[in-house]
Amino acid sequence: MIVGVPKETYPGERRVALVPAVLPNLKKLGLEAVIEAGAGLEAGYTDAHYAEKGARILPDRKSVFAAADIITQVLCYGSNDKTGKADLPLMKRDQVLIGFLRPFGSREVLEEIARAGVTAFSVELMPRTTRAQSMDALSSMATACGYKAVLIAADTLPRFYPMLTTAAGTITPARVLILGVGVAGLQAIATARRLGAIVTAYDVRPVVKEQVQSLGARFLELPIEAKDAQDARGYATAQDESFYAKQRQLLGQAVAENDVVITTAVVPGKQAPVLVTKEMVQGMQPGSVIVDLAAERGGNCELSKTDETIVAYGVTIIGKINLASTVPYHASSLYARNLSAFLEHLVKGGKLVIDPSDEITRDTMLTRGGEIVHARVRETFALPPLAAPVQV
Ligand code: NAD
Repeated sequence: MIVGVPKETYPGERRVALVPAVLPNLKKLGLEAVIEAGAGLEAGYTDAHYAEKGARILPDRKSVFAAADIITQVLCYGSNDKTGKADLPLMKRDQVLIGFLRPFGSREVLEEIARAGVTAFSVELMPRTTRAQSMDALSSMATACGYKAVLIAADTLPRFYPMLTTAAGTITPARVLILGVGVAGLQAIATARRLGAIVTAYDVRPVVKEQVQSLGARFLELPIEAKDAQDARGYATAQDESFYAKQRQLLGQAVAENDVVITTAVVPGKQAPVLVTKEMVQGMQPGSVIVDLAAERGGNCELSKTDETIVAYGVTIIGKINLASTVPYHASSLYARNLSAFLEHLVKGGKLVIDPSDEITRDTMLTRGGEIVHARVRETFALPPLAAPVQV
């Protein structure tokens, strides 16, 4: 069987789905790799690196889609709403497609992908279980985003992060507030601590308190309690507007006291909650920086603009999206390891085994045999449940 890697086409995307280091593992599974010429270049992987590990380099995208039984991408059509559509005519019936597909995005787009006849697996739908941990691409990308958010803030802030004792006097350390302590928030805490900042962090889920403290940060306790803060999968649950209003009121002082605020708060399937209002931005010191990692989902800061940097009341508010693509070497390497683990799960004895009774396979399978097959996605788009698993 052949696994193919086309070059990413989303504007500015620098990642690549597979890196040379995972190819020997794929070979053991009985998978041969074909790579579109130049696919890894922007991430730091040359065609020669791939060829050394046994890959065949093909001259163009069309040849990769034509040759491969399995196509691996970072941003497939679905999450690539700019240039992804061009892949539709290249897809083949029963070809497997694996990547970010934005499963709760557009029903029309998902139906187009389904009609192409591909069996598409969406990495966003990977269950958050111990068994699937090595395949969890969302965590890998969140790690890259949390890290990079701190560096971008450091680069923008007109202050040092660490405390410095110099002949010209002592510099006090920068104060960094992290709102939302999932995978990205934890990495942001660790990175800001390494740079010497004083870090405070807050999350609606009280269970993260110990994790925050173990990274050397202070956990901000607010005198409000979220109702059933966390669902069975470990995600935050949506709260009512009165909770969010109270939360904003209580967060005001903490936001004003910090030089950098990094926000990562999201609730699956919902608009991101607004945690930092215009008034709170006004209350910050000029020169302060907000990095809003939820900007793509509506933003945690009322003033954030998706993929833009603005200055309001002397505060720089960065809503840059796709930060993982700015650390392409390691983001690709982590992603490739996630895909390699997922392929190990799907391929047995050199053959694809698509077993819908398996949790990982069932939870990630988005389209098959011309249909959208994922139960939760069907429900979201008001499609009737499928009577029986689609057979092909
Ligand atoms: P996420 O990206 O869904 O959300 C980021 C954070 O925002 C979460 O911690 C959430 O609680 C927080 N948040 C939401 N609304 C908020 C509000 N109003 N105020 C403050 N904070 C708010 O989170 P994630 O990084 O995907 O992690 C979600 C969960 O999944 C965590 O419990 C994490 O430990 C768990 N997880 C498990 C695995 C695994 O077992 N394989 C892998 C990764 C993550």
